[in-house]
Amino acid sequence: MFCPKCGKEYSQAVNFCSQCGTEMHPPIRPSRKLMRSRTDEKIAGVCGGFAEYLEIDVTLVRLIWLAALFLGGWGLIAYIVAWIVMPLEPLPQHASSTVQPSSSTAQPAPNS
Ligand SMILES: [Zn+2]
Repeated sequence: MFCPKCGKEYSQAVNFCSQCGTEMHPPIRPSRKLMRSRTDEKIAGVCGGFAEYLEIDVTLVRLIWLAALFLGGWGLIAYIVAWIVMPLEPLPQHASSTVQPSSSTAQPAPNS
């Protein structure tokens, strides 16, 4: 990790920079949420989402899920439930400007 202020490199995690005293934060990891994957998507991205969340191979998730499917059928129900419950992963390419739908009723405030 690097000090954001002076750029001193630390091989291990420290709370404060010993050189300039800046508070150090651990490298920001993307918040892990259980979401349907867009990248690992076979049916609805549920298996891929679980694989990303649990940091395991998506194939393993699919194997477990398929095993559950054949071993009693609750795998299918669980899949459908997960499909409904799990939000879809946001698109990787972040839109720079939010497109606002033009509303007929909303009028721009007069700039005085
Ligand atoms: Zn520093």
